[in-house]
Amino acid sequence: MSAERFTISSRATGIRRTVVVFIYDTVEELKAAAFTFNGFVCDDNAAAVTQGWGYHHGRPELLPVSAVVRMHHGMIDAEVVAHELAHAAMGIYMADRVCWHSRARAHFSLANEPFAYLLGQLVSMATYHLHRLGAWTPATIREGAPA
Ligand SMILES: [Zn+2]
Repeated sequence: MSAERFTISSRATGIRRTVVVFIYDTVEELKAAAFTFNGFVCDDNAAAVTQGWGYHHGRPELLPVSAVVRMHHGMIDAEVVAHELAHAAMGIYMADRVCWHSRARAHFSLANEPFAYLLGQLVSMATYHLHRLGAWTPATIREGAPA
């Protein structure tokens, strides 16, 4: 098994958080890596998966890597990327900004599928139309963005 890999980071919550992204050749490789990481079993139609260190009760995770996103060639588009990074962002936001005792923690979870699908579908549709109109610009990296 081989995988391409890159990392992305943000200080938007006030703490530098990093997400590691792996790109596998096949869904079988993705599933095997996800299972090896923490025993997670992907469903048969998995396009991607996000796995994180999340938030431990009473002790926000301070590890430099907050989430691992796994995708595979052939199933990568704006919807999948936005969906998986929504999971990563929710986990980071939970760890850095939501108090464990807050009722908001029911929503700020790495496993919030409705939010991830909502964001993924909206980003997919917006990028489709922006590209169609010739207004799409590849990602802009804004170093020094306010925390
Ligand atoms: Zn999901």
